[in-house]
Amino acid sequence: MKVGIPKEIAPNETRVSVIPGMLNVITKMNHEVIVEKDAGAMAGFSDQQYADQGAKIVASAKELYAEADIVLKVQPPMQHESLGKHESEALKDGAYLVTFLSPASNPDGIKKLKGRKVTAFDMGFVPRITRAQSMDALSSMATVAGYKAVVMGADYLGKMFPLMMTAAGTVPPSNVLVLGAGVAGLQAIATAKRLGAKVEAFDPRIAVKEQIESLGAKFVEMEITEDAETAGGYAKEMSDDFLKKEQEAIAKRLPKVDLVITTAQVFGKAAPILITEEMIKMMHSGSVIIDIAAEQGGNTALTQKGKTEKHGVIIHGAVNLPALIPVHASQMYSKNITNLFQLIFKETIDWEDEIIKGSCVVKEGEVVNKLVADIIA
Ligand code: NAD
Repeated sequence: MKVGIPKEIAPNETRVSVIPGMLNVITKMNHEVIVEKDAGAMAGFSDQQYADQGAKIVASAKELYAEADIVLKVQPPMQHESLGKHESEALKDGAYLVTFLSPASNPDGIKKLKGRKVTAFDMGFVPRITRAQSMDALSSMATVAGYKAVVMGADYLGKMFPLMMTAAGTVPPSNVLVLGAGVAGLQAIATAKRLGAKVEAFDPRIAVKEQIESLGAKFVEMEITEDAETAGGYAKEMSDDFLKKEQEAIAKRLPKVDLVITTAQVFGKAAPILITEEMIKMMHSGSVIIDIAAEQGGNTALTQKGKTEKHGVIIHGAVNLPALIPVHASQMYSKNITNLFQLIFKETIDWEDEIIKGSCVVKEGEVVNKLVADIIA
């Protein structure tokens, strides 16, 4: 089959779905690869590098979509200016699409796939099971985001992170608070520690306490009266009562914190508000909040997408942090998507495989994922 790698068209997107170094995974399976001109340019990969790995370079998205039997992307399909149509409509009959479909924020992309003779897999629905770890792009992108959130916060802060004893006096370490210690949060803790900050963190899943401490951070103790973890290991939505107690515990820390990284989320829900406007007023002038749950509404009452400043505090609602680190983000994403590719596109597709079944959202025009069907209903 012909496998197409288009240039991403979402604003500020710099990643590419497959880097040249991973093309051999696809060509070894006897598929041909077509790459749209400049597809990897923003991530530093030239057309020549793709051509050297055996890819055919095509000049336009029109040529790519006309030829490709399988399209591998990063961002959900969207309206394409030069194609004059939506990417979902540009797929040829019988084609397969593998990408992040982000149905909640992009219902149109799914609606336009519905009823068409196409099949689409969502990288965001790869089940978080051991066998699928190497295909888990949500986790790898969250790792990149957790790292970048700290680097961005450090950049905004008028302070350094580590304790420094110098001839010009002693500089105390900065205090960093990380709320939510899933994949992104744990990486944020590790990054802040590496830079020398004093780090505290909280997550309502009791099992996470040990992981926080193993990274050298202090767990914010509070009375946990509810089990925050589902049988599948995911966080569940906490009660209003719990959130109130959590806000009280966080409020006690805020006056001495320099940087807060918020990452709290519950799958499929709006992000919980952990920091109210009153709490932001308690923070000292010049302190910073990087809220990476901004796409789900944010973990603070004042989060907006991008940078704002309120009550002397910089609040940055960070969206698409991985696009700010396109080389490694593309490299990690490529590994995830080509591993999934290898599993799906064997001689015949094994529709009984838990990973294939779980990640398929549209099968020959039918929306087969119940959650997604409800979103677009
Ligand atoms: P995850 O599911 O692994 O982690 C979320 C964590 O939040 C879980 O550990 C959960 O227990 C915790 N949580 C739930 N309720 C909480 C509460 N009331 N208080 C504190 N913690 C709570 O998710 P992840 O992969 O680490 O992603 C975290 C967030 O980052 C998500 O919102 C995700 O969409 C976002 N993200 C943003 C970017 C970006 O570029 N901005 C990139 C990747 C991920």
